[in-house]
Amino acid sequence: MTHVLHRKLGKTPPTVVHAEGLWLRDSEGRTYLDAVSGGAAVSAIGHGDPRVQAAIDAQLARVDFAHNSFFTNEPAEALADHLAERAPGGLSRVLYCSGGSEAMEAALKLARQIWIERGRPEKRTIIAREQSYHGGTLGALSIGGNKPRSMPFRPMLFDTRFIEPCYAYRYRHDGESEADYGARAAAALERMIQKEEADTVAAFVCEPVVGATLGCAPAAAGYLKRIREICDHHDILLIFDEVMCGAGRTGYTFACEEDAATPDILAMAKGLGGGYQPIGALLVHDRLVDTIVSGSGALLQGFTYMAHPVACAAALRVQQIMVEDGLLERVRDKGELLRRRLEATFGQHPHVGDIRGRGLFLGMELVEDRSTKAPFDPRLGIAARLKAVAMDEGLMVYPSGGTVDGTNGDHVLLAPAYTVSDEEIDEIVVRLSRSLNRTL
Ligand code: PLP
Repeated sequence: MTHVLHRKLGKTPPTVVHAEGLWLRDSEGRTYLDAVSGGAAVSAIGHGDPRVQAAIDAQLARVDFAHNSFFTNEPAEALADHLAERAPGGLSRVLYCSGGSEAMEAALKLARQIWIERGRPEKRTIIAREQSYHGGTLGALSIGGNKPRSMPFRPMLFDTRFIEPCYAYRYRHDGESEADYGARAAAALERMIQKEEADTVAAFVCEPVVGATLGCAPAAAGYLKRIREICDHHDILLIFDEVMCGAGRTGYTFACEEDAATPDILAMAKGLGGGYQPIGALLVHDRLVDTIVSGSGALLQGFTYMAHPVACAAALRVQQIMVEDGLLERVRDKGELLRRRLEATFGQHPHVGDIRGRGLFLGMELVEDRSTKAPFDPRLGIAARLKAVAMDEGLMVYPSGGTVDGTNGDHVLLAPAYTVSDEEIDEIVVRLSRSLNRTL
């Protein structure tokens, strides 16, 4: 018996004992090709990079821990400099935490604090999008539009307003241009604000490229820019959740760079530390910081492990390696190659409805009927079966199930490390093809 509570009680997953590059090995000697960066788009530069290990060792030898209310530390300052230098204009201040859910909690609390400091405490409603995921803590669950995940906790969550996601495969009309669709999807925010009255709305939150719940659905051209305009017009804060799609995953340090839209608060996590340490961060716009500086002067935030020296040292080295090794260009290049291979292999597959995404953040939507886009019955559990079969084929992928109301099919998400080779891309596609054939 295991004393660890695993996700599925009564079923212990294999024990991983070695990880290097894109390959993992379990205690039985089986190897797995990691097509999704440690299972959740985390291990952005691959596993076992000795340069990160050296940075962690060096930091441990200097300072293991000192609470952030007593000291700052060198890696925390250097990492914030590194991020701020690359961030879209104005996002120059960094608030650290230990992961994505904490980052989203901190973003919500910060938005609330800003309106209190500006003397407008009635601005408290958050608008988010259906079929989204922003984390597992109660605040983050409150703004998540993934109903199965949030429903059991509904009585404990705060009230959020939801609009439909920007999800071209299902919501774009036949013959509608991408730009027209982007503008139409953004208009849903305008309508919701009018319904709620702007004076009560604190912030709008969305992922530039939706990961876990929609299998890499990117914002349509112009969508995020229009969203920014709407938020400015109504004096509403804009929060981008780049926990999964950020830190180079799309080929840009920040996914929203490609959309030329800058939020007030940007959350990042997974690829920030690349899995070498748990770490998340908020990039905060100067004008929000100015509000607090000229108001109470103090953040209403604080986690024990905020700006943890070892976590910051690891993340700093991971981010430096992305620059030194030219990994962003590589993401764009290899992402294109992976997309071409997926299109060549699955483009005509009767159960693959859509292949989408950006950079090395690609998803395929699995459907019962390609011509009508009818999803599989969610009770079939296609996504869970595919994950199990793929593991049996020695391949790690990230599948997620469709919605019960059929607004969304099952999908499989691929997000390999930015160091993925051409041969590994071929192998991912071969193993995925075998896994799909065995599942469907
Ligand atoms: N936001 C997004 C977009 C995510 O995909 C996730 C996790 O998958 C989170 C937030 C929560 O991050 P964490 O699991 O690190 O708490």
